[in-house]
Parts: sequence; structure tokens; C-alpha cells
Amino acid sequence: MNPFHLHGKAALVTGGNGGIGLGMAKGLAAAGANLAIAGRDERKNSDAVRQLKELGVSAIAVQADLRDEKSCRRMVEEAAQKLGHLDTLVNNAGINIREPPQDLPIEAWREVLDTNLTSAFVASQAAYPHLKRAGGKIINIGSMMSIFGAAYLAPYAASKAGIVQLTKALACAWAKDNIQVNAVLPGWIDTALTQRARVELEGLNERVLTRTPAGRWGEPADLAGIAVFLASSASGFVTGTAIPVDGGYSSLG
Ligand code: NDP
Repeated sequence: MNPFHLHGKAALVTGGNGGIGLGMAKGLAAAGANLAIAGRDERKNSDAVRQLKELGVSAIAVQADLRDEKSCRRMVEEAAQKLGHLDTLVNNAGINIREPPQDLPIEAWREVLDTNLTSAFVASQAAYPHLKRAGGKIINIGSMMSIFGAAYLAPYAASKAGIVQLTKALACAWAKDNIQVNAVLPGWIDTALTQRARVELEGLNERVLTRTPAGRWGEPADLAGIAVFLASSASGFVTGTAIPVDGGYSSLG
């Protein structure tokens, strides 16, 4: 038996219509899982569904705004109902608002925390009864900012550090239900999020290439393998961890 296969499994990936989320969704689909992806943009949603179906699995999109609790809960129920069950939840959707902390409006703080952290809690809570039935998996997406600080990233860093502690708390609470909860901490990955940062922050590209021991930006496909591992029975005794996928970035002193 291949311990990494996901045939018969159903996964929901928030922010799965592009970037890292779609990279992980494609990995899960290639291992045999049926997919629900969630995001606000209908055009991006349907394009991602088309790409996932090309991998030979069932795929649906759920339009949701994760800043909104009701929308978040509806997303989970719609995904579970349309897929027939739910085995894996990937809390990946995230945004960044870059401002020095002394100038950051409280609304911006709330928007980042609601999108990146509170939505992961609400979606996990909504998914709990489904995952409990399945002996399921939660994969939360952190960041290098779960570990390090940066002058312009107060709400982002707070949300991503919070993701790691949320992961540990849920792992402890739900281990008895055979639900494994883990976090993945990506390094610098080439996506819409960082393409914008590259334009706005002079010298970022060179700094990432120099600071990353692997000497390159990550690609969304670099996150596929860890998603498959953490969604599969191969990780049945792995819970509460935060695994960097960063080309060595967090290992360099
Ligand atoms: P992208 O900007 O490419 O993707 C973000 C995704 O989140 C999109 O699918 C977007 O869909 C969705 N999203 C954002 N806000 C909402 C919302 N309110 N409701 C529903 N969906 C939403 O970013 P990445 O792929 O780079 O980032 C994915 C995750 O990885 C984030 O949590 C990010 O913090 C994290 N990360 C990224 C790194 C990188 O280097 N790229 C490094 C470390 C962590 P839509 O716009 O349709 O709503």
C-alpha cells in the first residue's frame, strides 16, 4: 500500500484559486483527492477548477469571503456537502498590508488578523464534526514571519505566529479524535503576493536570492509534497508541528 495515496479523500483548500493554495491543491489532486477550493474571485475560482479537473479528479469552487464568519462556515458546509464528506482542510488564504506599525489603522490590523488567523480558527471549528468522522487533517499555512520579525509587517507577523500556536492548541485538543493538525511555513515563494512586494520593495529580489541557501525563489509546486504528506496516512503520528518549506531560509543564522 502506498501510504501517500489520497484516493477517496476530499480536501478543501482556502485561497486555492492561485499561488501556494493552488500549488498544494494540485499536489493533493495528483495524489487522488477530490478538491474544493475557496476564494472571492469567481474567474480565478473557475480557472483553478478547470486546472484541477484536468488532473482527473472532481473539483468544485466555493465563493467565500473569509473575513466574514458566516461566509467561512457556509464555505465548509458547502464543500462537505458537494464533495460528500471532508477529510482535509487547508487554511491557506492570506493577505498582507505593509505599513510601519505607528501608522497602521486599526481596520487594517483587523483585516489581516480576520483573513489570516480568525478564518483558520472558524473554518477549523466548522470542519471539526466532518474531520472527526473521517479521522481528518488540518494544514495551516504560516510563514517565515511565524518565526522572524519585520518592521512593516506587524499584523502579518502576529497572524502568522498565531497560526503556529493555534495549530498546537488544535492538535492537542483533537488528537483524541484522530485529527492531525500541522502548520507549514513557506519561505519566499513566487506568487501574486510576492510579485507585488517585489515591485514595491527595491532590492527584495536580490535579498531573497542571497538569504535563501537554495539560491532561488520557491514555486507553488514546491508546496505540493508537504501537502500530500500532511494529508495522507503517512503523517498519522505527526501533529502540532510547524514545518518550514523554505530552501533553508530559516536555518541560516
Ligand atoms: P496569493 O495572493 O497568490 O493568494 C492568496 C489567496 O488567498 C488567493 O487565492 C485569494 O483569493 C485568497 N484570499 C485572500 N483574501 C481572501 C478572503 N478574504 N476570502 C477568501 N479568500 C481570500 O498569495 P500566496 O499564494 O503567496 O499566499 C498563500 C498563503 O501563503 C498566505 O497565507 C500567505 O500569507 C502564505 N505565505 C506566502 C508566502 C510567499 O512567499 N508567497 C510566504 C509565506 C507564507 P481571492 O483573491 O479570490 O479571494
